[in-house]
Amino acid sequence: GSFHNYMLSEDIIKALNGLEYDIPTEVQARVIPYALEKNDLIVKARTGSGKTAAYAIPICESVEWLENKPQALILAPTRELAIQIKEDFTNIGRFKRIKAAAVYGRHQFSIEKAELKQKTHVVAGTPGRIMDHINKGTLNLSKINCLVIDEADRMLDMGFMEQVEAIIKELSEERMTMLFSATMPDEVKDIASNYMRTPVNIDV
Ligand code: AMP
Repeated sequence: GSFHNYMLSEDIIKALNGLEYDIPTEVQARVIPYALEKNDLIVKARTGSGKTAAYAIPICESVEWLENKPQALILAPTRELAIQIKEDFTNIGRFKRIKAAAVYGRHQFSIEKAELKQKTHVVAGTPGRIMDHINKGTLNLSKINCLVIDEADRMLDMGFMEQVEAIIKELSEERMTMLFSATMPDEVKDIASNYMRTPVNIDV
């Protein structure tokens, strides 16, 4: 396989070349075609599989650069992962000049608030901090058309599921949702059945 098999723009292909992502990983090969078609997806995949790029590539492809408000929201269990996701979006979206922000607990709120006031296409963050920004009116969700729930089983283990659900309820139903998890406990499957539209199941 090759990234040239997908209908990706030159700006994205150029960034993937620069990152030396020559061949799609299995999860990327299975996710990208469905994600480009805006299907809801439930993906069983672990860290190290290339799952971040599996959703970041199609999201970067669909970002409208001129829209200043965030268009994609990525929920992640830890600050480390939120920061990594921001970096991956920045790298893959480099030639499209995509702006990504990371928000997470124990990070200075005012810094994040200032960042979110600038042009921001993608926001990655931990559920508690994202909820703080929603409640304080510092994160505008009106243009979010894609939600990613990353490492859903870890967020469940850490007690974040109520916040994840509260965030989902704030979003437009006219959105695409992708859920990634290494394991599929019932509570994770419930999120999928309650908040996703005829999702495609992918098991890597
Ligand atoms: P992840 O599972 O998203 O944490 O990614 C694991 C590692 O694989 C990261 O260091 C990525 O930069 C790298 N990676 C992702 N996709 C590819 C690819 N298609 N080719 C080579 N490396 C990749």
